[in-house]
Amino acid sequence: MVDKSLRVVVIGAGMAGILAAIKLLEDGINDVVVYEKADRIGGTWRENTYPGLTCDVPSHHYTYKFERNPHWTRFLPPGNEIQAYFERTCTKYGIDELIRFNCGIETASFVAGRWHLQTSLGETDVADIVVAATGVLHQPNIPAIQGMEDFLGDLFHSARWDHSIDLKGKRIGVIGSGSTGVQIISALAGQVAGVSHFQRTPQWIMPVENGYFSAEERESFRTDPDALDAAMGTEQYLANVEGYTQAITGSKLDTRAQWSAACLQNLEQNVEDPELRELLRPDHEPMCKRLIFSPDYYGAIQRPGTFLVREGIETIEAEGIRTLDGVLHKLDAIVLATGFKADRFMRPMTITGRNGVALESLWRDRPKAYLAVAMPDFPNFFMLNGPNGPVGNFSLIDIAEHQWDYIAQCIARIRSGECREISPTHAALEGFEEERVVAAKTTIWYTGGCTSWYLDDDGIPSSWPWNYQRFVDKMKAPDWNAFECVI
Ligand code: NAP
Repeated sequence: MVDKSLRVVVIGAGMAGILAAIKLLEDGINDVVVYEKADRIGGTWRENTYPGLTCDVPSHHYTYKFERNPHWTRFLPPGNEIQAYFERTCTKYGIDELIRFNCGIETASFVAGRWHLQTSLGETDVADIVVAATGVLHQPNIPAIQGMEDFLGDLFHSARWDHSIDLKGKRIGVIGSGSTGVQIISALAGQVAGVSHFQRTPQWIMPVENGYFSAEERESFRTDPDALDAAMGTEQYLANVEGYTQAITGSKLDTRAQWSAACLQNLEQNVEDPELRELLRPDHEPMCKRLIFSPDYYGAIQRPGTFLVREGIETIEAEGIRTLDGVLHKLDAIVLATGFKADRFMRPMTITGRNGVALESLWRDRPKAYLAVAMPDFPNFFMLNGPNGPVGNFSLIDIAEHQWDYIAQCIARIRSGECREISPTHAALEGFEEERVVAAKTTIWYTGGCTSWYLDDDGIPSSWPWNYQRFVDKMKAPDWNAFECVI
């Protein structure tokens, strides 16, 4: 068996790209370069720095499995600690030296058995394998609200927080009631002159507490692996993830009912004013949109100086936001917590596969990939957190790790010389897509009476529509019958 030397290009130095680079080095593949369009690693956690930024996954489960973090200060990890964790890990595993910063990939074409890439700096590179780790939510969704350019105050998207602006004593408007908007409102309430929350669609909120780990606890996690294991309760955590995904798919309706009851109780018990309570009551089923975990939003929205605005937005004017009832809400700054374009993935890169097949033609209807990791006509090209993979209230790090185990087995076949080019067949992708769309229509994302970024242009949920365990099982070993291997 030969052991071909391979050059691997990883695109993106966020959580998934760093993982790929670490694993490649671990496997003895040293000719690795990571292209990163920005000047720092971190992806989502570099770009999002808004006040209150927190991940909704229990801290000790929001790490790579091979690099636990005993230092988390809170039950749910704050954004700055996550960024610091990735920076530390990147340095510790020697990945910093592999990264080309401020250097995006603009085109990638598969020609004569290899990937030819062009960077934003006008350079070219040629690689045997490409790993796209470009993230899911990275292109801000900027709504087309009339008059936005007329606003005289500061206006920015939540993922482009302008820290040069001192918000003390200012009146802030936040548009959007996803996790981001909710976290920003909770952080700003009581800290600024006034904060108005413009909610087109209220959401269900799980009152997940976010306590602190004491210095003693952190010390014990650092020095005693058993203490860390005990705190993690991995078996229970994974059972919860499985239960959550079964609730989404409808195979565990009792779990769905429990989650729904907890959200309803949170609303009924923690919002005193009946009028406000009705304004905050969602019109869809819990879990239809991604659930929001927040211990303090209802408290925040009831504070003096915090205002809920359910009236639709008509225009943005020089002085603030005018709603459809004619009221002008005077503001000094507006934050667009309006989410992301969730169907972008590697785009706007121009990617061309075998025989000149354009990614845009494969993705004409919607982004798709066999088991979310690979595509026919795009040999030796793999994705982490690609289209239709699992996304939800659980760790995407864990998802990427399982995907890597699968991709590594494909790479091993290339490396051993068994296959020069490997890609799933068209039949495999079509079969997967057919099954996926049928399953997607049975999920609560489809049946729960809401819209969300989970839905594609045809209204079909674009996330993994089955339970977690099915994903884990699929990622254990590729079914080689689904792959075309060019020798
Ligand atoms: P999001 O969930 O997509 O929410 C966007 C919000 O903006 C929605 O409330 C939407 O209203 C509103 N919106 C969009 N266009 C609008 C317009 N033209 N006028 C008025 N409102 C408009 O975005 P996100 O909150 O940034 O969250 C993105 C993803 O990241 C979510 O999955 C979220 O859970 C995740 N996230 C996770 C964490 C975490 O703790 N792990 C933290 C932050 C974010 P409609 O609902 O009416 O469309």
